[in-house]
Amino acid sequence: MNITLPDGSIRELKKGSTGLDLANDIGPGLAKAAIAVVVNGSQRDLCDPINDDSTVSILTIDSNEGLEIMRHTLTAQVLARAIKNLYPDSKLAIGPTIDDGFYYDFLTEKAVSSDDLPKIENEMRNIIASGDLINKSLNTKKEAIKLFKSKQENYKVDIINDSDQEDNFQIYQQGESDFIDLCKGPHLPNLKHIGAFKLTKIAGAYWRGDSDNEMLTRIYGTAWKSDKELNAYLHRLEEAEKRDHRKLAKEMDLFHFQEEAPGMVFWHPNGWTIYRALEDYMRDKLSGSYQEIKTPQVVDRKLWEASGHWDKYRENMFITEIDEEHANEKRVNALKPMNCPCHVQVYNQGLKSYRDLPLRLAEFGSCHRYEASGTMHGLMRVRGFTQDDGHIFCTEAQIESETAIFIKLLSSIYKDLGFEEFSIKLSTRPEVRVGSDEVWDKAEAALENAITKLNLPFTIDEGDGAFYGPKLDFVLTDAIGREWQCGTFQADFNLPDRLDAEYIGEDGLKHNPVMIHRAILGSFERFIGVLIENYSGRLPLWLAPRQVVIASIISDVDSYVDEVAELLKAQGVRVETDKRNEKISYKVREHSSAKVPVIMVIGKKEAEERSLSVRRLGSDKNISYDLNTIVDEISNESKSPVNT
Ligand SMILES: [Zn+2]
Ligand SMILES: [Zn+2]
Repeated sequence: MNITLPDGSIRELKKGSTGLDLANDIGPGLAKAAIAVVVNGSQRDLCDPINDDSTVSILTIDSNEGLEIMRHTLTAQVLARAIKNLYPDSKLAIGPTIDDGFYYDFLTEKAVSSDDLPKIENEMRNIIASGDLINKSLNTKKEAIKLFKSKQENYKVDIINDSDQEDNFQIYQQGESDFIDLCKGPHLPNLKHIGAFKLTKIAGAYWRGDSDNEMLTRIYGTAWKSDKELNAYLHRLEEAEKRDHRKLAKEMDLFHFQEEAPGMVFWHPNGWTIYRALEDYMRDKLSGSYQEIKTPQVVDRKLWEASGHWDKYRENMFITEIDEEHANEKRVNALKPMNCPCHVQVYNQGLKSYRDLPLRLAEFGSCHRYEASGTMHGLMRVRGFTQDDGHIFCTEAQIESETAIFIKLLSSIYKDLGFEEFSIKLSTRPEVRVGSDEVWDKAEAALENAITKLNLPFTIDEGDGAFYGPKLDFVLTDAIGREWQCGTFQADFNLPDRLDAEYIGEDGLKHNPVMIHRAILGSFERFIGVLIENYSGRLPLWLAPRQVVIASIISDVDSYVDEVAELLKAQGVRVETDKRNEKISYKVREHSSAKVPVIMVIGKKEAEERSLSVRRLGSDKNISYDLNTIVDEISNESKSPVNT
């Protein structure tokens, strides 16, 4: 049979050869590093026979998929076996992988606490040191049930009973041990491939997530290729905790949440100042190329029915009912979960011709979406938010140039906001979609050409596009290496048709424009969360809510303090004075922990010399300046990057 490798080359192998045979055929180095294979798109164990002509790639731990398999084997084989060794009466439930790690759920009579984690880690290390081979057998449903019944593993029996599968249940075993695991696989071929790991925490979880069922113990862990990556990850966790925007928001007095409006932000003066600085900046960046509009919050269900949201998205919408005067029926409205249908209403006013395109409409659009209460997280996930939304109505031929214009705008904004690095993902046609293949071909090529011509790297996510068109996602990397998907650019061949958006073409006939949904920040709320965490609260001067505090050492200098404040205010600087009768060290400490970027200190000497002693956030040095010099410097630095 013929095996096609990722580079397109073909190898001839005996029918029934395994992934390991293939790796050996390519070279001994690869055979040693191989941990699993992908056969025609699906992951398989290295020992599985391949019976037909296939496309095969070999996975090593260097790939994300390989890392995932290692994490999975670690929890399902090593953590589970360690639990059985230490708590022989325990019953094993499930052990999936999660972002950066894994967990395992099990039931024990004796309570397990976080004090036990080092002991469990130790047992795991002992198991790994055996370097056991991992073998697999295929079993019928009956055999599998019998086997797990004999071990009194009731959860596994439940899982098998609930499966539609009749045979080919995979049971994994390590070397000569009597530990077994039921799994769809793949697993590592042996325990020597396990990298660096750490158990991180312990929690309770109901079997099958149902509170009517018994509470199980859940142990979480993280695993990486090597100690270096593990330590970097643990450091990142620690850093992330220090930078948590919810914690910093308290110190900086930015916003709060309360029960009466879950997931909706109560902005305080400081937080709202950041918001407005960002909004003003965005408005300046859009001026000239977009026309800003504002559309209603509460919109009749009829429009949502026409757009398709009522059908597909209703469970996420806030619905309001109202008795119209003298009406026989209640009128049902929804708070808009997105702005798109309203933007089409604006487009639809008046006849459009091809000469009007591209038409770019922007809105800082307030939206509401019902998110389950467990999923909300500070500003990062909310129910009420404002998108920096925009829609471009254009012809098919204009998609490529619009893509290029958009990416240039987006990268200049990310750069101004302190993010030099971002990645692009192109998602192509899914199986279920609207529009002809010809239109998809053109649109996908237009997006790809635009990125290629800008010389930007990108990855392709085959089949991950929306049903209505291909899309680009833009992912930022923050100061501690975390990734945030913020920007998006999605071509839509569906909504203009559904909502009767048209233009008269050069041919004199009516056509539907392409509608491009695009956002750069995503939402102001979440992006401000990202900014706070990226900068650890030490925002650049132009975004800082209180840019300067002028603190007096003695009351004799109060009039000079006020004079300096007035000079800075006249330059548009956000300045406060602190003339309280407190020690200067106390004042400096208080304003530093509130993350005020510039603290000016004035004592007798400064007042006499008409100078200032300036302390920048993060430095413990005071630098002396002459009054005019520092007023110029601070007023320049405090301006938004659009104006510099
Ligand atoms: Zn498994
Ligand atoms: Zn949209």
